[in-house]
Amino acid sequence: MRAEIIAIGTELTSGQKLDTNSAWLSRRLQEFGIQPCWHTTLPDELETIVAALEVARQRAEVVVITGGLGPTLDDLTREALARLAGVELILHEPSLRHIEELFARRGRPMPERNRLQAMIPRGAEVIPNPIGTAPGIWISVLRKPCDCPPEVSPLSLGLAKPRTLIIALPGVPSELQAMWQEEVAPRLRKLGPAPIVIRERVLHCFGLGESAIEAKLGDLTRRGRNPEVGITASDAVISLRLVAQAPCEAEALALLDADEATIRQTLGDLVFGAGDEDLQHAVARLLEQTGQSLATAESVTGGLIASRLTQVPGISRFYRGGIVAYQTPTKAHVLGVPVRLLEQQGAVSAPVAEAMAQHARQLFQADLALSTTGVAGPDLDERGHPVGLVYIGLAWSGGVRSWEVRWFGNRLEIQSRAARSALNELRLHLLRHLPAPAGTQR
Ligand code: ATP
Ligand code: MG
Repeated sequence: MRAEIIAIGTELTSGQKLDTNSAWLSRRLQEFGIQPCWHTTLPDELETIVAALEVARQRAEVVVITGGLGPTLDDLTREALARLAGVELILHEPSLRHIEELFARRGRPMPERNRLQAMIPRGAEVIPNPIGTAPGIWISVLRKPCDCPPEVSPLSLGLAKPRTLIIALPGVPSELQAMWQEEVAPRLRKLGPAPIVIRERVLHCFGLGESAIEAKLGDLTRRGRNPEVGITASDAVISLRLVAQAPCEAEALALLDADEATIRQTLGDLVFGAGDEDLQHAVARLLEQTGQSLATAESVTGGLIASRLTQVPGISRFYRGGIVAYQTPTKAHVLGVPVRLLEQQGAVSAPVAEAMAQHARQLFQADLALSTTGVAGPDLDERGHPVGLVYIGLAWSGGVRSWEVRWFGNRLEIQSRAARSALNELRLHLLRHLPAPAGTQR
């Protein structure tokens, strides 16, 4: 089954607002084995919407509309659907009562215009909206327009001629999502088992480029393979999206498990997490596993490492805190890096990165300390170091070391990638120093 998603709203076509609903709906449809083939974005214009629906009904078996169900003049989805089906809009009493109750509960009178939201095309079903005023619409229309009489009774819907299912939902993402989970998904499930089950898994890697990772994976990334393995890069993180198709969930998951195992074995330490995980989550897990505390001293990353670490719930058990030692004198006065070292080596140097980490470790009484110093650009530093040059320092009870990395990009990209590099070096250090029997891949 192929689906089209239609997002309606002039704020979307004009670029003021990003259409995130279509992406979300695409993911949900695939969970039912329905393949999203078209994303259409339309302004709030009746003729345009009806024309697009005419195209959609003929090429897709399922059409999901988001937006345009509000009470204002620019909300045209109801009317467009009625035109498409060749039926009139009729009042749905239970929806009207629901809307009136919502207003009563908020202690406000219901504006007359909101009655409009309870109007639905004759023959359509209402999809209740548990958290907002606009009900959704579930309607089946003929795939090909014809001269059928405008009165389409629900009983005559279906069977004889091929039909297209149209599901119209509100544009407000929280309402759309709640209605999908509570109303639409159960109805789709009842329509019968999906012909195929599609399951996805995403693995994240850091430390090599997209093409180098693809080369290592070899045949795994061949198009048309099942699971299909797609590679995307975002802010130096390389993500592998595995999409498996199978007749049932268990088989799809087994296919994913097998590929995940192969990928982890092939890529080893390059893989740091899955799903919503970022490098800080991997670091937090390893700090917990090894029971160690951490401090940070950041220059070029300006607190990004601290910010990322503190995004992880529960990190306060391991993360003591950090200092943004940005100006060179601050590195001396606050952190205690020797002035002589700063003068001789320059603030952007491996010895200074190491000294920053050592002093932060002492200052915070932490088991480990991570530091960064570098040039984010757009200009070279006063010693002529190139933009993108970053030194990362790490101090632990057994010693100290540093890494030199070079990133390309604009200022924000360099800072973000440097923060990721630092977290990654810490992750690799922790992996190498795991207690012996843990036996993870090194
Ligand atoms: P509804 O059908 O719920 O009445 P609407 O189109 O009438 O939707 P709007 O006032 O246009 O309502 O939008 C409500 C909110 O939902 C706005 O913040 C809008 O930006 C957001 N929104 C609408 N469509 C989308 C979309 N496709 N993706 C993300 N956000 C959206
Ligand atoms: Mg709108």
